[in-house]
Amino acid sequence: MKFETDLDKIKLLGTKKKDENFSFRAYLKLLDIEFEVLDKLVYSLNEEVTKQIDCTKCANCCKSIKPELNKTEIEKFAKGLNISKSYLTKTYCVLSEDEKNKFNFNELPCPFLEDNKCSNYEFRPNDCESYPHLDKGDFVLKLLGVISNYSICPIVFNVFEKLKVELWNKNWKHSIKRY
Ligand code: SF4
Repeated sequence: MKFETDLDKIKLLGTKKKDENFSFRAYLKLLDIEFEVLDKLVYSLNEEVTKQIDCTKCANCCKSIKPELNKTEIEKFAKGLNISKSYLTKTYCVLSEDEKNKFNFNELPCPFLEDNKCSNYEFRPNDCESYPHLDKGDFVLKLLGVISNYSICPIVFNVFEKLKVELWNKNWKHSIKRY
């Protein structure tokens, strides 16, 4: 399988393969496989793919997705910038529409992205630290998020495509033994 890092192509394939991705999601949900076994396979593919991607050359997540920050994360982030949390909130944040008592940064790309790198890396929000969340387990419960990240993050794109090759065949039980 060709390893894909071209962001325009990945975005295009996200649209083109939308139905296929949802069919694979449905397939995974019905697959007779333990959560832990599937997670182990995803960890392994994630490790393999991550080694081949330089996130600082991409930073597409910081250009496309706004992290959710709680009050503790706002405080930590402001401390890293040496500004007050109220200045950070007033100048750079809006209330999250999705999660109560949480904030998003008010712009995309993220206002703290400089030369494709996080200018406040040590103090970055949990969402940023954890992204693209493929090493966090319960993969099968997070497939909507995975499909949404598929067209943004080359790691997610390549892991999901590799998973299709490994599992979307009649001999998946045989192929999974390799991991
Ligand atoms: S805080 Fe840093 S890691 Fe998070 S989106 Fe902004 S630039 Fe990216």
